[in-house]
Amino acid sequence: MFSFPGNNNQSDKQEESCGIFGIYAPQSDTARLTYFGLFALQHRGQESAGICVSNGGHMSCYARMGLVNQVFNEQILGILRGHIASGHVRYSTTGSSVIANAQPFLIEDKQETRFNGKLRRKYVGLALSHNGNLVNTRELKSKCDDLGLPLNSTSDSEMMARLIHYEYARTCNIESALLTWLPQFKGAFAMVLQTPDKLIAIRDDIGIRPLVCGYLGDKDDPDGWVLASETCALDIIGAHFAFAISPGTAVLIDESGPRTLRWKPNHKDEKLCAFEYIYFARPDSLFRGKCLHLIRQRMGELMAIENPVDADIVVPVPDSGTPHAIGFARQSGIPYTEGLIKNRYVGRTFISPQSRLRALGVRMKLNPLESVLRGKRVVLVDDSIVRGTTSKKIIQLLRDAGAKEVHFRVASPPVLNPCYYGIDTAVQEDLIASHYRNTKNDYSELAKQLGADSLAYLSIEGMLEAFGHTTDELCLACLNGKYPIPISEQTRLNLGKFILEK
Ligand code: SF4
Repeated sequence: MFSFPGNNNQSDKQEESCGIFGIYAPQSDTARLTYFGLFALQHRGQESAGICVSNGGHMSCYARMGLVNQVFNEQILGILRGHIASGHVRYSTTGSSVIANAQPFLIEDKQETRFNGKLRRKYVGLALSHNGNLVNTRELKSKCDDLGLPLNSTSDSEMMARLIHYEYARTCNIESALLTWLPQFKGAFAMVLQTPDKLIAIRDDIGIRPLVCGYLGDKDDPDGWVLASETCALDIIGAHFAFAISPGTAVLIDESGPRTLRWKPNHKDEKLCAFEYIYFARPDSLFRGKCLHLIRQRMGELMAIENPVDADIVVPVPDSGTPHAIGFARQSGIPYTEGLIKNRYVGRTFISPQSRLRALGVRMKLNPLESVLRGKRVVLVDDSIVRGTTSKKIIQLLRDAGAKEVHFRVASPPVLNPCYYGIDTAVQEDLIASHYRNTKNDYSELAKQLGADSLAYLSIEGMLEAFGHTTDELCLACLNGKYPIPISEQTRLNLGKFILEK
């Protein structure tokens, strides 16, 4: 959703925290392939971008504020040489939007070892790219303090990098470092780690954030291995899907290929974030082998079955509401049409508009097609509502363009609870549906508040039917209040505050 820096930067959607990518490919320009991988993951974070490379001996990292194509150019990519690379695009959920928080975090050290009686100084580098959010940062901050580890940023990801690196430098054994620290991290983490000679994928023990592994070239004799938050980042560089990283495991990739390390014995079932299906992930990505674009169309169809309405046209909120609207139109028989034209070149920008322009708000991004809308009874379809601020403005745009009626259909259940696992809605008051919470699924008062003639959400049961999953297979905490990783009362009250106060 459209947002500007400063006080006006609150989106009307759940915002993703990060996209991560990694590649081990001796014959390839890994930095360039990482650039393209991050480009495909840009929707997951637009505040900073970074790439780290390893050449077997040393590591180099370049990370800056901005979009991938603003941060990197030919010259920089030409300098980043190595057969291993990892990259990160960031949307800040904890920690401020500053360069110190840009990832990958690269931590370097020299460790003295004895070899054949001679003293040697061994380079110990570790780069970490993280997607998710920890819920025990106070505890980990104390551990960093106890070990005398300095923290240069305001991000939980740096704490993880420092703690793993500390053990890695002490033992010169990355597996032992992972087995020591990963069980002590509580919360959501999908990570790509990189050492001078290894690329490592890690997922938390319930797999809230996605992470997949693919290969380049021939399946039986691959030219390289690729890690990515979503399969769309494999597609863009011509890699093929191999497997999803299992919850509670690390996959270490080196010259022998991938090897699995189960860091959490008896891990629980995967509980992938439901919002990855609803909105975060790109529609051309596959989850558990299923195409999100088709799943989202099915959500729209089920929405039409659960909440029919008599109307003339079905109009999506572009682009994220488009597949849901296609499904709604197909099921209801009401014609689908574009009614809001999106300016695709207005993304997040670092040039703040003057206040006169800012007042135009959503109009800078969406322009209504008056000739389509005038005199029509419109079904407006969106994938979700979080704060409701943009929805209200869009409904007003339709009315200003002459729509006779506006029936708002939201193809996901109401967001009633904050997310503590890396999504930017940590504050209950922000969630507009939570102010209208009721047992009868009656959101007529909220419809009035948003200026719609009617408002209905897809049920949780309908959503699960569209996904083809059971409640046990997903995190649904922001929808049903059941948090799969326990949240302490302190975290509930102070999430983010501790880190931002640092
Ligand atoms: S609470 Fe769970 S389902 Fe909701 S956004 Fe967070 S991780 Fe996703």
